[in-house]
Amino acid sequence: MTVFSQLIQSFVDDVGSRRKVRSAASIEKFHSWVQAQPKVETHVHLEAGVAPGFYESLNRPNTWSSSYPWQRAPFANLREFIMAWVDLSRSIRTPSDVEALAESFVASRVPQNIRYTEAYFSPADLSFMRRRFQIAPEIFDFSEVLHAYVRGLKRGLAAHPGFEVRLVMDALWPSTADERLEMKTVLRQSLESNDFFDAQGRPLIVAIGLGGSESHHDLEGHREFVNDVRALGFKIDIHSGEGNTVEMHRTSVETLSPDRVAHGFVGVQSGYLFGSNVVMCPLSNLLLKTFSGRAEDHPAFRLLREDVPILIGSDDPLLLGHDLSAEFSFIYAIEESFDESKFLQIQENTRKRVFAPGVCEQVLS
Ligand SMILES: [Zn+2]
Repeated sequence: MTVFSQLIQSFVDDVGSRRKVRSAASIEKFHSWVQAQPKVETHVHLEAGVAPGFYESLNRPNTWSSSYPWQRAPFANLREFIMAWVDLSRSIRTPSDVEALAESFVASRVPQNIRYTEAYFSPADLSFMRRRFQIAPEIFDFSEVLHAYVRGLKRGLAAHPGFEVRLVMDALWPSTADERLEMKTVLRQSLESNDFFDAQGRPLIVAIGLGGSESHHDLEGHREFVNDVRALGFKIDIHSGEGNTVEMHRTSVETLSPDRVAHGFVGVQSGYLFGSNVVMCPLSNLLLKTFSGRAEDHPAFRLLREDVPILIGSDDPLLLGHDLSAEFSFIYAIEESFDESKFLQIQENTRKRVFAPGVCEQVLS
């Protein structure tokens, strides 16, 4: 009996072949405790944060004939993971699929007791990327798909009182100048519309992200975009330091001055860390092989031992075959200094670093 998928259990066993890990009974006890705790999460992607049943309910694309995208972990590299992500998105064909997806994401928070979430969502994938790379015939209008996500979110929040979700719109590292201009225009318009605010007048989209493969092909263009959307009131949250070089990570951070960094583990070994608000996801890094060392050598463990206030997220639970509680239980399994009080400390650190503190505190009280 294990709380982990076979694949994740194999990482625990591998560490166990070198040093002492926690017993299955102890892990199970910790896992039940974490599951029951009210939680806050700030690194999860909405499209890969729902249960498989949601995607099984859609018409499956013929690219799924040999396997479902969520059966493909571990991935050879980030690129192979992105291919699985793209394949997952092929099943989304109509605005009502998008609404159902966002609604289903809110529902996914309930059994895990994740009371407040800041989730990345990717309207640019269904519009710009689809058009540019002929991913699927149904090309969404950017503004229309943005509206569909938010409609679904509102429906999900109405159905699940006691749970709050705010959105981080992924503007994507590979976006072009024209695409960024359109995103900026639509974001500006969104501020004039009640559709993008909750009943208490609080915004539903709180930040703009840069996800996908970190790239400096137009860093100056990203800098301008980031500064413009920041002036509109959005926070900035970039994926960086996820398997690229320290220099690249540092340049991204120094050029864009984000409010939060996703991953950011690259550079820790050489003394560079964006320490004020970094959300690490060790299992994601291991399953995508963006971290290629032994599991116990992932920089997150050392930082946790040193009480550096890093945060922990699940990233893409559907594609990785786990959830936020399993992410914490994995740390508990292999890191002997990690326990209930460390978990509570991480949660406290997370609460202090959310982009909508008023919403978070209200739903937790
Ligand atoms: Zn991520």
